Amino acid sequence: DQQIVLASRPKGMPDASTFRVEVLALPDLNEGDVLIEPTYFSVDPYMRGRMNAGKSYIPPFEVGQPLAGGAVANVVDSKFDGLKAGDLVTGSLPWATRSVLPGKSLKKIDASLAPPSYYLGILGMPGLTAYFGLLDIGNPQPGETVVVSGAAGAVGIIVGQIAKIKGCRVVGIAGSDDKIALLKNEFGFDAVVNYKTAGNLVDAIAEACPNGVDVYFDNVGGEVSDAVIRNLNFHARIPLCGQIALYNETDVPMGPRIQPMLLTRSVLMKGFTIGNYQPRFGEGMKQLAAWVGEGKLHYKETTVKGFDKLPEAMLGLFSGQNTGKMIVEV
Ligand code: NDP
Repeated sequence: DQQIVLASRPKGMPDASTFRVEVLALPDLNEGDVLIEPTYFSVDPYMRGRMNAGKSYIPPFEVGQPLAGGAVANVVDSKFDGLKAGDLVTGSLPWATRSVLPGKSLKKIDASLAPPSYYLGILGMPGLTAYFGLLDIGNPQPGETVVVSGAAGAVGIIVGQIAKIKGCRVVGIAGSDDKIALLKNEFGFDAVVNYKTAGNLVDAIAEACPNGVDVYFDNVGGEVSDAVIRNLNFHARIPLCGQIALYNETDVPMGPRIQPMLLTRSVLMKGFTIGNYQPRFGEGMKQLAAWVGEGKLHYKETTVKGFDKLPEAMLGLFSGQNTGKMIVEV
């Protein structure tokens, strides 16, 4: 067996020297343990933050230890009462070809309800993030304009569709013409701005949002968000979900660029991490699954094949290699 460990803490953008593949000798199964073999790994932008030392909402990865993240796995052998060989589980799993883990750290999933990888995307963390961030904080009303950045990514593509279900005008911001065509033609976005080629982004957003912006679902931060914020309406809401434009910055640019807009327009800006909504995950999953079943919510994945491709796939998030959810199939 093999595992991929954090070889060193990156400064700025990680590269090949950040990761190391090692041979892994599996321990014996103790009472309560299961042997699992992952089939799909999720790679997510938050993993970059875990490569840094220091306290955050989730503990850092340790140098010399395997990276880990959301994954779906087959149970190969079990000494845990609730699971048996052949079951399919999800959990936060180490980047290893097989692992021995306490059975209680895993959650059984039902592959007859949806393809297994959906539990890492639309029926998992990104879907719930879109659902609660948009509905609980954004509170979109019919006829309002919702702008979402990172629009063609795992969270953004779901945010835009939920906003359409709620009767809003939906404007996405994304980084390639292919993504823009897809969002408009297949995902029902009313307009999409390419932040890389738009030129003056403040004007481009104003043009795409003739009635201003009522909800801005922020996945990226940085200059994209500065431009959206200049177009906000009175009483606009900003679910502050992610700041991917800043995750690899060594000097995060800080400044009073936007506060006057937020203040004078009585804007609500609220950060959140999806763990805040744990008690309501059941409600979110049920609604997301219902919308998928009714054909109101469509899904998209970019699948990279091979366990050894995990680092490359994760880094690909920072150059927009994915459309929809980035998944590594083992
Ligand atoms: P995505 O699937 O959206 O992947 C990241 C995308 O971000 C890329 O495809 C790329 O698309 C875009 N991107 C990368 N770098 C930049 C940049 N410098 N400026 C603008 N866009 C950029 O990831 P997720 O949907 O999983 O996550 C989206 C955001 O939500 C992230 O910031 C993440 O950290 C956050 N998040 C927060 C959660 C929470 O609990 N608060 C939970 C889950 C995610 P493009 O081609 O358009 O540039």
